[in-house]
Parts: sequence; C-alpha cells; structure tokens
Amino acid sequence: MLHYQNHFEKLVKLESKEISLVDNVKSFLDRIKSEKDINAYNFVFDDAVEKAEIIEEKILNNSAGKLAGMVIAIKDVLSIKGKPLTCSSKILKNFNSVYTATAVQKLVDEDAIIIGKTNCDEFAMGSSNENSAFGNVLNPVNKLHVPGGSSGGSAAAVAAKLCDVSLGTDTGGSIRQPASFCGIFGLKPTYGRVSRYGLTAFASSFDSIGPFANNVEDVALVLSVLAGKDDLDSTSKEVDVPNYYDSLSKTGKIRIGIPQEFFGEGLNEEVKSAIENKINYLSKNEDIEFLDIHLPHNEYSIATYYILTTAEASANLQRYDGVRYGYRDSEQPELDDMYTQTRSKGFGDEVKRRIMLGTYVLSSGYYDAYYTKAQKVRRLIKEDFENAFKKVDVILTPTSPFTAFKIGEKSSNPLEMYLSDIYTTSANLAGIPGISIPVGKDSEGLPIGMQLLANQFNEETLLQTAKRFN
Ligand code: GLN
Repeated sequence: MLHYQNHFEKLVKLESKEISLVDNVKSFLDRIKSEKDINAYNFVFDDAVEKAEIIEEKILNNSAGKLAGMVIAIKDVLSIKGKPLTCSSKILKNFNSVYTATAVQKLVDEDAIIIGKTNCDEFAMGSSNENSAFGNVLNPVNKLHVPGGSSGGSAAAVAAKLCDVSLGTDTGGSIRQPASFCGIFGLKPTYGRVSRYGLTAFASSFDSIGPFANNVEDVALVLSVLAGKDDLDSTSKEVDVPNYYDSLSKTGKIRIGIPQEFFGEGLNEEVKSAIENKINYLSKNEDIEFLDIHLPHNEYSIATYYILTTAEASANLQRYDGVRYGYRDSEQPELDDMYTQTRSKGFGDEVKRRIMLGTYVLSSGYYDAYYTKAQKVRRLIKEDFENAFKKVDVILTPTSPFTAFKIGEKSSNPLEMYLSDIYTTSANLAGIPGISIPVGKDSEGLPIGMQLLANQFNEETLLQTAKRFN
C-alpha cells in the first residue's frame, strides 16, 4: 500500500514521482479483490487503469484538475453513462445509465478516477446494508458487524482503503450513520447545495449527496467541487460556494450548542462518555464556547420522517413497472399481472413495506391525519433549528445511539432498525448540513461517531469545527 494522509499529500508525491498513479490504482484494484468478503462494491471498473495513465500525464504537465488522481467510488444509486445502475435492487438488474449524474461529472471534470459502484441498501432504504440484492456488506473494523446504511458499501470502501474517497447519499442519516459505524468522516450537505440530477430518487425533498473520507481535508476539497447551482436540478440553489479547504484553517470564536434531548434515554453509555470527553477536552479552548440548548420537537422526528419519506418513495418508485426499466416478469399474459408480478418479485421486503406505508399515509381517508400533520411537524422541527442557530453556530450530538451492531441483530425488527436514525433524521427534515466525525472506540474496538450540525449553507463553519475536533 502507498501511504499518504490526504489528497494534497498524494498529489505532492505524484508530482515528484515518488508514487505512480497507475500503481496506486492497481493496488486499489488488488485490494478490492483481496478484501472481496467485505462486499463493498457492486461493480468495479477496470478501465480506471487507463484513466490513471492519462491523468498521470496531465499531472506531470501541470494541466490536471483539483482532484487529480483521487480514486473515488460511487454509491450505486448515482448514474454514470454506460455503466450499470442497480440501486442494489433486482428490479434494476441489467439496467445501464443513459446519462451521468452532475455530482459524478463534476468529479470527473476535475480529474478524479471513478473506480466502481458501491453496495447499499436497496433504493437507499435501510440502516445496515442488509437490504441489498447484492448481499450484506461487512464492517471492515469487525467483520461480524454491519457497516451501517444505507451507504454501507461507500463507508466500508473508504474505511478498508479500497478507494480514497466515496460518494454516498443521505435521506435520513445514510452518510453520517455508516461513517460513524466505520470510523471515518461523512458529510451530508445542505439540501440544495449539491445537484441531485442523476440520483435515483428515494424521497426527493430529503435526498442529499455527499462525500466519505478518512480526513476532513478531503471532505472539504470534494465538497468545493460538488457544490453549486445546476440548471438540471431546480432544487439546487444559487448560493456562493466558498473554498472549503482554504477556510479550514480559519480561526475565531465558535459557539457550540448541546441539545439536552440528544443525551437522554437510549444513548449507550460508552458513546455518551466518548463524546463528553471530547467536549471536556475542547472546553479548555478559549475560542470555543459550549451552551445548553433545546430541540423540543426532535422526539417526533422519526415518526415524521417515516411518514413523509415513505409517501415520497411510494410516488417515486411507481416508475419501476417492468415496462420502462430493468426487470420484467414476462411470463404473465395479462398487463395488470405483469405489473403486479414484476413489482412483487423485483422489490425486496423493506422497499415493499415503504411503498405500502407511503400509499397508506397518502390515501384519501388518512391524508390529513398523517401526511398533512407530518408536514406541520416538519415545520416545527425546522423552527427548533432556526431558533437554536440564533444562539449558536454549530450543534453537537452523537451520530448514532449505539456503535455498529452485529449482522442479523436488528434485521427482523424494522422499528428497532428505524431507531438507529434517531439523531440524524431531523437534519434532513430541516434541510441543514451535518457531518459525522470519529471520536473514539468502545470497549469492543468499534468506532464512535459524533455529529455536528450547522445552519443551512453554512458548511464552512461545520468543517472548521470538525477540523478543530480533529
Ligand atoms: N436509515 C434511514 C432509512 O432507512 C435513512 C436512509 C437514508 O438516509 N437513505 O430510511
């Protein structure tokens, strides 16, 4: 293995020819093979070696982009023209993308190398990567445990050094929770910060695309490339994009709020004390002030999240009908039977559960009782954050109430699985950015993650704070 701490160090070594990009990519490909049991990848792109040859030339000619030679894996819910796109679902078996997602295109335009597509929960629905048609992903830290989900393959690939950086998506915690379980950094940007064009929709008013990395510098660098308005996604916003990497070193006072509601019942003691130790350590720093705050509606976030996201998912997933995409049960002579059998056989249990829940909360007799009410609660959750950010710059919480659980431990109990997201869904309900950073390990050696949240479009302060906790 070639050693470097972050992309800038890698670039210096590439420029001085201390390491060769082709060898670097080959060693990733070898490692992906030798760590095959982790099952992080759905597809590996061998053409990455040819790309490395071209980019190596560019680096030596000084004409390469900002991400020159960064080896990146992409969650298999994002489109790359001509490559498979399955969302880890049987229903998209043999489907190839016909265009490239803006987020991926931006990485390629800056000379990153895409090495493959990572495993995930089917259509990004899950917290453990156990809902995948490609099978479980193992946590590289302890292979008996889950890597988290839904972007489990993306997190495991970074943690096991099967790529430099990966992209994941976060609808309710799917970047932050697996980052926490695998001991790495994972950022969910503000809703509207990164274009969703080319992302397979799960819950369109929640979905965000963001990076996983082993260090905060690479997160900042990649976000600088991903962020910005895109005419192909009308929900992406025209807001200035700072140079996140340069601003990492900025100093100044930061006020950090500790929401009492996130440290009560249900939080594992070892997770709690690892986070309290971090807080104590930093409270000696004169530039950091800690304040107690309240987010009183957080207790409703899981219920609100599962009503609204299942409603949106039930609409978004209507398009998989056996006619336009992927799998079709062509044994059926009648059209209606073909639709029913294609969807019954093509979707996994969790996806079906969500479609049924979503259809139920949108049905005419229940619409007001569930869907309309949940929209109102979403507003209250958002207002809690708006009030909090009048007093503080950043909010600090655990990322997950527990560390990575064992494979199979929660898979038969969906409600318990949903509780994994108790600290993460509120950021998606409010559309604010959040990052999970590693802060220690429990007595079994499993990583503990801490979540930082900031106001909309304030990723700059979020990343600066993450840097100070490093
Ligand atoms: N675990 C959550 C869910 O199952 C979050 C998923 C996500 O963020 N994509 O819905």
